[in-house]
Amino acid sequence: MVKETAFYDTLGVKPSATPEELKKAYRKLALKYHPDKNPTEGEKFKQISQAYEVLSDPKKREVYDRGGEKAIKEGGSSSGGGGFASPMDIFDLFFGGGSRMHRERKGKNVVHQISVSLEDLYNGASRKLSLQKNALCERCEGRGSRKGAAQMCMMCHGSGMQVRVHQLAPGMVQQVSTVCQGCQGQGQRISQKDRCKACGGRKILRQKKILEVHIDKGMRDGQKIVFHGEGDQEPGLEPGDIIFVLDLREHPQFTRNRDDLMMSMELQLVEALCGFQKPVQTLDNRTLLVTSHPGDLIKPGDTKCIVNEGMPKHRHPFEKGRLIITFTVVFPKANFLPNPKLKELERYLPERKEAERPEGMDDDLYIYADLEDCNLESRRRRRSHYYYMEEDDYPGATGVQCQTS
Ligand SMILES: [Zn+2]
Ligand SMILES: [Zn+2]
Repeated sequence: MVKETAFYDTLGVKPSATPEELKKAYRKLALKYHPDKNPTEGEKFKQISQAYEVLSDPKKREVYDRGGEKAIKEGGSSSGGGGFASPMDIFDLFFGGGSRMHRERKGKNVVHQISVSLEDLYNGASRKLSLQKNALCERCEGRGSRKGAAQMCMMCHGSGMQVRVHQLAPGMVQQVSTVCQGCQGQGQRISQKDRCKACGGRKILRQKKILEVHIDKGMRDGQKIVFHGEGDQEPGLEPGDIIFVLDLREHPQFTRNRDDLMMSMELQLVEALCGFQKPVQTLDNRTLLVTSHPGDLIKPGDTKCIVNEGMPKHRHPFEKGRLIITFTVVFPKANFLPNPKLKELERYLPERKEAERPEGMDDDLYIYADLEDCNLESRRRRRSHYYYMEEDDYPGATGVQCQTS
């Protein structure tokens, strides 16, 4: 039992969630609430980040499970006084955006999610995606003007910043730096007539770009496909990357576990006992005839596999995992055979194990006890009704314990 579940609730997972489930939950929410996409949800983005920071670290998760958020805030001497990392750092670390040091010379990375089906990951796929991005103006090569027409801004002497000095009291001054009003931080000024006609002196243009994303056979949910240097361009900065993150949709039949595919199959009792052939449609539209030969018996809950019918391995697509099938067995309905035929059926089944009877015990000394259906769920619900109903009002007040539904 965990002390509180707030962090789990924030990520929308159960306290029993595996590290993979936590990752997937964080990935979806962080992309949804990232300030680039949802500028008004900064607080939510922060909460998601803090919850993930704690739960993704086995030690911190243990502390949280035992003592809740209070314990995390008190006990984090190793993590800098129990504080949290910045949500952006957590995001960049997760999506591979590089460190903050790196980011200063480089433009921002942009992360997009691509929804894929299991078929896409099995067969490989490609998507053409159209994106808007900032690109340096080609006409002026990002200068904003004819070559040499830009002049240093005299208000800031080219630094782009202005320092103002306020006198707070005699002998006491405060320095405030602000972005230069004269050049909007550009450090240079271009007279109206010299401005580039294509970009109006802004140096960058909004551009439509089509990227073709190749999804290789065997790629995984959450895997990243990176287009280096395809992010927004800005003068003086190395452009950031565009990162696509694969987001696998649930498949109605198969689930994936590493390179294996898992499915369940329902058998009739006769199939479980006497063998069967059942078609299964593969993810590349072949039909497997899953065969259990007469004599191969399958019990409820049995798991069997078919080799080489799982997912292709990434970068080795000719090697495949297994198709793992877990069986359920449907038993026939009550009275499916008239009694005389049941006796006949019994002849073919393995013999009963006679229960041991105490020696010399007479048959009529036994107390015969018939079995009835017993629905534990509805009995529990019914019990809670007792508190609200007078005993006389309750139709089954004589004590019905079991239901014969
Ligand atoms: Zn231009
Ligand atoms: Zn200036």
